[in-house]
Amino acid sequence: MSDLDIIGLSAAEAAGEIAAGALSAGELFEAYRARAAEHVAEAGLNCFTWVADDAPAEPAPGDDAAGGASRGGTLHGVPLAVKDLFCTVGVPSQSGSKILEGYLPPYTATAVSRLTGAGASLLGKTNQDEFAMGSSNENSAYGPVLNPWNRERVPGGSSGGSAAAVAAGLAPWALGTDTGGSIRQPAALCGIVGLKPTYGAVSRYGMIAFASSLDQAGPLTRDVTDAALMLRHLVGHDERDATSLAFPEEIGPPSAERLEGIRLGVPKELTGDSTGGDGEGIEEGVLDSFRAALSRAEELGATIVESVQLPHALHALSAYYVLAPAEASSNLARFDGVRYGLRAEGAKDLLDMYTRTRHDGFGAEVKRRIMLGTYALSSGYYDAYYGRAQRVRTKIAEDFRAAFEQVDLIVTPTAPTVAFKLGEKTADPLAMYLNDFCTVPMSLAGIPAISIPCGLSEGLPVGLQLAGPAFSENRLLDAAYALERALDFDGSQARV
Ligand code: GLN
Repeated sequence: MSDLDIIGLSAAEAAGEIAAGALSAGELFEAYRARAAEHVAEAGLNCFTWVADDAPAEPAPGDDAAGGASRGGTLHGVPLAVKDLFCTVGVPSQSGSKILEGYLPPYTATAVSRLTGAGASLLGKTNQDEFAMGSSNENSAYGPVLNPWNRERVPGGSSGGSAAAVAAGLAPWALGTDTGGSIRQPAALCGIVGLKPTYGAVSRYGMIAFASSLDQAGPLTRDVTDAALMLRHLVGHDERDATSLAFPEEIGPPSAERLEGIRLGVPKELTGDSTGGDGEGIEEGVLDSFRAALSRAEELGATIVESVQLPHALHALSAYYVLAPAEASSNLARFDGVRYGLRAEGAKDLLDMYTRTRHDGFGAEVKRRIMLGTYALSSGYYDAYYGRAQRVRTKIAEDFRAAFEQVDLIVTPTAPTVAFKLGEKTADPLAMYLNDFCTVPMSLAGIPAISIPCGLSEGLPVGLQLAGPAFSENRLLDAAYALERALDFDGSQARV
């Protein structure tokens, strides 16, 4: 098979070709490894912070044990790109931060080991916003990632390296994390599929934490079938993460061709051209693509329900930007120069060493979040900020519960704009935070949501988000699959 043919295969197709003997796992790995290596550090798209040196050894014919766990299993050695913040034993795991420069964890995150245990091979670690804080990948200590659709544009964030790598054909698929939108928004801006699972469906063990009550790992893939395949291997209880849960059913390959009987709720709060007073609404080009996709859904038999309401969704961003920084300020207290990565030189005493290390090691956005979070949790302000934000969170979860009595799934644009220019929003944190307007409510409610590409605006991809009740992933994937087939989006133009 030529390299071009190999790169054209989805992860599921590649696994199938290997199983059928038409392609070797080594050949597949080497094709991607060579491509990924051109985009490592600040070369090319800067998608990767680390790329594996060699393809894993070929098992000898008839020798099932050769090659170790990574070659067995149903994934047949398909290469996997992994967001930097997943601990991977002996491999740099820096969460996009200078404070973790050179950190080599002694263990591997469960999400990663589940996939390698099923036969995936670790291809590389992907660039990301520092500690997953951001929507453009410009907060990485390792430089920004470029969007393969247009290199003057951001890929979205914080899983920007993962999204750009998949869109550019530098990895068949990738693992990301989503706290307030970091899988779905970069998937939308790069024209691929991104799924944030139900909170607790995937173990967080070994993920360098941002906001523990929100962080979830999930797939970034070329198509919905690959998202289902990866999710199938990710889910399940892990005794090392007390918040992880047994998934109530197996994740199956999606197969729906129609949407008959499916009621799609279009909440006006998240689909209007005004996002509630902060000035920037949802872009017209995004709304046009979104509306066209809804018409396709209707042709497939879905019922569009415009009367569904999420009355508290307008307050989701405000609550998120209290809660996530509060949790982050606590999670990041461990980076003190003693246990991991960077330690500042020349300190006069212990406190000075802590202070200098954190001063030198954290970037501006991380410092902003630590200050916000520390303030929101301080005595005297705790009830006014953190307590109130928690109550808003409960209201939002209740809104969704009520909505799902009226409809099966909620549908919105994933992001209010297409990929914006590098540097366009870096000076205005509030404008940057608005990127998460449509994705944060689902994160606060802990429910699953998927973004699929639904068209182009100004030559750049637009994402459509589908959300469902907790553990409705199979239904969500089925609906996304039917819609994906009908929309027939061509993402191959972004391959480098
Ligand atoms: N962009 C959001 C933030 O900066 C969400 C990030 C995420 O989901 N990790 O917090």
